[in-house]
Amino acid sequence: MDIMTFVVGVAFVFGAHIGSFVNVVALRLHTGEPIARGRSHCADCRHVLEWFELVPLVSYLVLRGRCLTCKKTIAVRYFGVEVVMGILFAAAAGGLFVLDDPLSWLSIALWFVVIAGLGIIFLYDLDHYLIPNVVLYPLFVVTAIGIAVLYPDEFLIRVGVGFSAALFFYIIHVVTKGRGMGLGDVKFSLLIGVLLGPVLTISAMFVAFVSGAAVGLVLIARQQKQLSSQIPFGPFLVGGTLLIGILSFYFDISQLMQWYMY
Ligand SMILES: [Zn+2]
Repeated sequence: MDIMTFVVGVAFVFGAHIGSFVNVVALRLHTGEPIARGRSHCADCRHVLEWFELVPLVSYLVLRGRCLTCKKTIAVRYFGVEVVMGILFAAAAGGLFVLDDPLSWLSIALWFVVIAGLGIIFLYDLDHYLIPNVVLYPLFVVTAIGIAVLYPDEFLIRVGVGFSAALFFYIIHVVTKGRGMGLGDVKFSLLIGVLLGPVLTISAMFVAFVSGAAVGLVLIARQQKQLSSQIPFGPFLVGGTLLIGILSFYFDISQLMQWYMY
């Protein structure tokens, strides 16, 4: 096995474990249970999970998505988050092996933290229509320090991009009287600008708006949502940011966007 296959494989397994952690944090942030303490337990019968029930992906498949004790179905979402986090970590780690311009380990480490943080934001906003500051603020600090170290020459430009994006979202927030964008989205867009820089931020926002509109229209067509009802925008921002950010390791995004536009 070559080194790349090994590193990407390890990143997948690591990502799946982080995915299982992301699931727990998103849940416990809301219930107020301590995040680090207390073993994981079944949401139905409170049975404390054995070590072999805690192995991500494998345990779900072996137990066929049921609690060992009460046999209640475990939401497939937990499994899905573990798979997606594994894939994102693997895709990010692959950036170490890009031929012309491989990413540094520091850069990969920053992206691992960002992927985990955005994963929590995705799940929490989806459930509660709120981007938790307790996740957003520390993630912003880590991102800003990471970008300042990795791209010292671009740092101020990126901060400028962040504030421009935040201003843009704030205007939408005011014009739509808070029904379009929450203040959480405004703060979140500042982080995205600092993380991605000018070209990628615009691309990520574009993906977020197009996918958000598409999903919104589908939900309205299937009459699951009224035109006036809210769909959280945070998950789409997370999707656009991770998609464009990770694709940018492998492709020239500005060329990709031009190809899409014409
Ligand atoms: Zn149970």
